[in-house]
Amino acid sequence: MTAPTNPTVPPAPLLPLAEDWDRALCIVAHPDDMEFGAAAAVARWTGQGKSVAYCMVTSGEAGIDAMPPDRCREVREAEQVESARIVGVEAVEFLGQPDGVVEYGVPLRRLLTEVVRRHRPEVVVTGNFRETWGGRNLNQADHIAVGRAVVDAVRDAGNRWVFPEQLGDALEPWGGVREVWAFGSPQA
Ligand SMILES: [Zn+2]
Repeated sequence: MTAPTNPTVPPAPLLPLAEDWDRALCIVAHPDDMEFGAAAAVARWTGQGKSVAYCMVTSGEAGIDAMPPDRCREVREAEQVESARIVGVEAVEFLGQPDGVVEYGVPLRRLLTEVVRRHRPEVVVTGNFRETWGGRNLNQADHIAVGRAVVDAVRDAGNRWVFPEQLGDALEPWGGVREVWAFGSPQA
């Protein structure tokens, strides 16, 4: 048998993103995902006067081999808050899910739906949730779980019959997200 041809497809040309919006919410798995992914774009947007908020699903506490999780959590949360401040983001929240073992499923969708309903963004940014980065490098499990749940939660947030226990005086359904953008993705 002959070897299979190289399955790597060249990336599609990059297209400008819409900038006629006011509020974005970035939901990612770990502190530093935004810095590796889209923080420069965030700096551009906040420089235009837009409001951008960050939501970290975990605190990245399992990310440094030589540092125990309790200490690592403190360090990485502080680094994230400072990194956000530098690009004009004041609102950073940490959902406290367990780093490294985030599971895709209804509980994660419920958690993220509440965040979307509370922030009422027009644009949601997340990270690559495909199996690879476009070549042979496998993606990390938390990224895949979180990104998939973000896409679902954006839809769930607009449906009053999904997670209705969240709705009441303070929260209403939010169907105003125009687009979800996934940075670093071979199929953004
Ligand atoms: Zn990450």
